[in-house]
Amino acid sequence: MELNKLIRENIKKLEPYACARNEFSGEAGVFLDANENPYNAPYNRYPDPLQHKLKEEIVKIKGCRKEQLFLGNGSDEAIDLVFRAFCEPGKDNMVRIDPSYGMYQVCAEINDIETRTVSLDENFRISAKKLLRAADENTKLIFLCSPNNPTSNLLDKEEVISVLKNFNGLVILDEAYIDFSPGNSFLPELNKYDNLIIFQTFSKAWGMAGIRLGMAFAAPEIITVFNKIKYPYNVNILTQQKALESIKENSKEKNKWVSKLLEARDVLSEELKTISCVKKVYPSDSNFLLVKMDDANKTYKYLTDRGIIVRNRSKVNLCNNCLRITVGSEKENTMLLLALKERDL
Ligand code: PMP
Repeated sequence: MELNKLIRENIKKLEPYACARNEFSGEAGVFLDANENPYNAPYNRYPDPLQHKLKEEIVKIKGCRKEQLFLGNGSDEAIDLVFRAFCEPGKDNMVRIDPSYGMYQVCAEINDIETRTVSLDENFRISAKKLLRAADENTKLIFLCSPNNPTSNLLDKEEVISVLKNFNGLVILDEAYIDFSPGNSFLPELNKYDNLIIFQTFSKAWGMAGIRLGMAFAAPEIITVFNKIKYPYNVNILTQQKALESIKENSKEKNKWVSKLLEARDVLSEELKTISCVKKVYPSDSNFLLVKMDDANKTYKYLTDRGIIVRNRSKVNLCNNCLRITVGSEKENTMLLLALKERDL
């Protein structure tokens, strides 16, 4: 893969905005460079545009280099940036698996990029051959998601490797749910594939969807492109502080949450199987279950009328009559089961 051929011409030529804080990198006591208000510290100051301290802590737990890490306003920011960096509107295209996370297609459409959709098979498996066949000389990106949303399964590693080895563009592997299937991340193999971009997030296992912090891991040359085009202060001071604090204080807690949720998921899955309106509970490698109902629309309405919100996926390819149910707290899971059992009577 030749990265230089993938980057859009306008981005290659771009002279990025230079923040005041980027232009100076020493110790100072008087800051009169950024038109900030001197009062209301520490919120009066712009945040570190490249989030150095936070990155130092993240790379310690992730086992990669700082230059291989981009931080954004959720993974959603990184999804948008790959289109803006590498896809020429009205000309280039991307290939994605179907079903998968909806934002890949939405961001493609916003950026006027054609989407080529390749269906998973009935067991939600990918075929590298099919994905590669869908690509042409204008395909810049292939989007994979493992564990996949909404099918909840990990993708076959050999197939992912085959896509990585045989595709001349960039492969995005969204690992938002990877903490729920330990040991299966591609991150330890990042150095092997110069066309691999891995997305992870603080929104799931870390329990911090509210602070909006997503990670992209890739070769330093790719990260440099993201940093060149991102908003100057894309991760705010509160988010950087809270994430730092959580990594230092909450890492063990996070692992406990994951174990607890995995146990709860298995209990919920077994309980759901005993309910007559449930036709099938698919195996899950994540913190949610894809559940086939006899009538998903009716069950969805029944549950919302009782204040229980799940995700109706029945219109999605291969998910006819399926609800996607997040594993919640013990109390939430019990309320869901009680409501469904009551309907059974
Ligand atoms: N990727 C996948 C597969 C998701 O399901 C989601 C959110 N549901 C995201 C990314 C978005 O993550 P973030 O909160 O980091 O923007």
